[in-house]
Amino acid sequence: MTAALTRLGVQRIPVPVPFPEAGGPANVYAIEEEGGGIALFDAGIGTREGRDALLAGFRKLGLSLGDVRRIFVSHGHIDHYGYARAAQEASGAPVYAHSRDHDKLTGRDRTGQRLDLYAAYLSRLGASPHLLEHVKVHWQDALRMARPLERVEPLAAGTILRFRRFSAEVLHLPGHTPGLVCLWAAQPRVLFSDDHLLERVSPNPLLDLEGQPEPSHKALLAYLDSARRVRSLPAEVIAPGHAEPFSGHAGIVDRLLAFYEKRQQRIFELLGAGPLTPAELAPKVFPHAHDHQLYLTLSEVMGNLEVLEAQRRVARSEREGRIYFEAV
Ligand SMILES: [Zn+2]
Ligand SMILES: [Zn+2]
Repeated sequence: MTAALTRLGVQRIPVPVPFPEAGGPANVYAIEEEGGGIALFDAGIGTREGRDALLAGFRKLGLSLGDVRRIFVSHGHIDHYGYARAAQEASGAPVYAHSRDHDKLTGRDRTGQRLDLYAAYLSRLGASPHLLEHVKVHWQDALRMARPLERVEPLAAGTILRFRRFSAEVLHLPGHTPGLVCLWAAQPRVLFSDDHLLERVSPNPLLDLEGQPEPSHKALLAYLDSARRVRSLPAEVIAPGHAEPFSGHAGIVDRLLAFYEKRQQRIFELLGAGPLTPAELAPKVFPHAHDHQLYLTLSEVMGNLEVLEAQRRVARSEREGRIYFEAV
């Protein structure tokens, strides 16, 4: 599988990330550019260990940061754009990402005003105020591992990127984040899937307000649509955002869809006893979750509720500033 990438002029450089739930080291793909130099698909993380691993990988390939011509970021998570600012400063290369994830790369998603919107929305979901404290701490941590970029260029769906040995189409596959993109090389059927499709880990579609009081991005609904789109691609090799390349993506998508259907059924059954807020449901669905996983579990529950709501199996109502769901 690595040979398939090498033939395309692509080298995978794994960099360590400090969170085990990511499913392994984050991959930076160095891609030969026409006319010399390389493009990056994802830029790793801005920790010292991340930087050291990336620079060691470059040295092994006889490259330096000065060889970087373009930087493409798959989505606005720190393990994918965290080192982009430093790589940009060393090379002068432009950084491209889908416009819906720009505010994450530039840090504008983390202003006081944005946090207030999260506080208000999380409280409507029934969460206690200390959940927001967790979120704030998490975002402070994020700043340490990813310096915000000042300038990010748009990367639109349908754009064809030409590299030295192949061309790839930009696919916008919202879900894991609103602006996630994958690269699809139809010849020779390689999908650079970043976190949209991983071999062993489900992708955690997180609550994302995008600067609005209520999300227009229904993370899991969008994700499931995007997963079905990718299932229909005739991909032979999946080059993911974490861990080793793999094949057999249709089976992985099918298992994932079945997994979410089961979870939705479980939530539907829990609502048989009467209306509940998403925050009341979360510990029933995830009885073993730790405190620091609250945002994740609440996002999961809300995502599945939005799917059930779209199927008209549950309905929401709002009373005294709290959103309740009930089976219909
Ligand atoms: Zn991610
Ligand atoms: Zn990731």
